[in-house]
Amino acid sequence: MHVTAIIAAGGRGQRFGASQPKQLLDVDGEAILARSVRAFATHPSVNEVIVALPDDVMANPPAYLRADRVRLVAGGARRQDSVTQGFLAASEQSDVIVIHDAARPFASADLIARTIAAAADSGAAVAALASRDTVKLVSPAADGPAQAGHYVRETLDRETIYLAQTPQAFRRNVLSDALAFTDDATDEAALAERAGYHVRIVQGEATNIKITTPDDLLMAEAIANQSAIRNPQSAIRVRTGRAGTGYDLHRLVEGRPLILAGVTIPSDRGALGHSDADVVCHAVTDAILGALSLGDIGRHFPDTDPRWKDANSIDLLTRAVALVHEQGYEIGNVDVTIILERPKIKDHIAAMCANLARALAVDVSRVSIKGKTNEGVDAVGRGEAIAAQAIALTRAR
Ligand code: MG
Repeated sequence: MHVTAIIAAGGRGQRFGASQPKQLLDVDGEAILARSVRAFATHPSVNEVIVALPDDVMANPPAYLRADRVRLVAGGARRQDSVTQGFLAASEQSDVIVIHDAARPFASADLIARTIAAAADSGAAVAALASRDTVKLVSPAADGPAQAGHYVRETLDRETIYLAQTPQAFRRNVLSDALAFTDDATDEAALAERAGYHVRIVQGEATNIKITTPDDLLMAEAIANQSAIRNPQSAIRVRTGRAGTGYDLHRLVEGRPLILAGVTIPSDRGALGHSDADVVCHAVTDAILGALSLGDIGRHFPDTDPRWKDANSIDLLTRAVALVHEQGYEIGNVDVTIILERPKIKDHIAAMCANLARALAVDVSRVSIKGKTNEGVDAVGRGEAIAAQAIALTRAR
């Protein structure tokens, strides 16, 4: 069976308001059109792909359209005119022609295969989703209430309502008959109905959204990130959050200040260490470095290096945050537990959170610090040491 795919990319996307056609905009680093074309150009059931483009794009097509099995044609004024141009350019051997909106970049290979198979079997097939919402037939108030607006005429039986997507696929002769109808239609399945054919429903996909307004780009970014998780090989990088943990412990000795998250806490003992021995900053630094697999604090700020002797650990944390930013990430939130027998730290928590938030370049609402004692057990419980645990979430900027 010879299958031709036609990608309808002729529209200007006037509902979108961007300066360039919406199908050329990026979603998670790849143009919407590139994604839509790739789904078909790499599909094992598709022999050729014809992309119908607006004239100005046709004049200087993006590099990703210069691919094997991909041909370009100038689109028309209406969607169905673009599809007609694609149809005229299709190979004469085509048995089935599958049509897809350029603005639906997430059709899965499985959905494409099922739609093609259903059309080969039944003549015409359309991907469609059962309505999840209750559906109302409405009309503007004519002789009813005085307030302007639309009013419900009837509640339709939801079981009978499907929302059409693309791909839509047709045997060659069916599409030929459908495109003979020149009155306006929003999809080819409607034309096939007018030509008297039965159009079979193929179960669509909720993620197969059509990007129509700028709001849809938010949804599209989320879907692109989900597919990156499911298929890591295809991901340039995983843009969802990455978590890391950190832990630190220092001995407590007389004659040293007790510095926690950059705050000097009144205490008869302080933490012993090469730097200021700030266990909170050290645990948080390890957590954020760990989140991005960047090693640990000892690798970046070794205690054998005189530069870090008596270093201010808030500064070290700030440097670690800069590394996070260099990777294209930012801090999502940080949660810290300080384990210390005495003194009580609760009166200092707000100041500590403020210092951490500043170093992490986040709002203070994203920082949490809790105090715990070790109930008199072990070295921490005997007051010989202080420990801290931290967890950090980083996320793509
Ligand atoms: Mg330390």
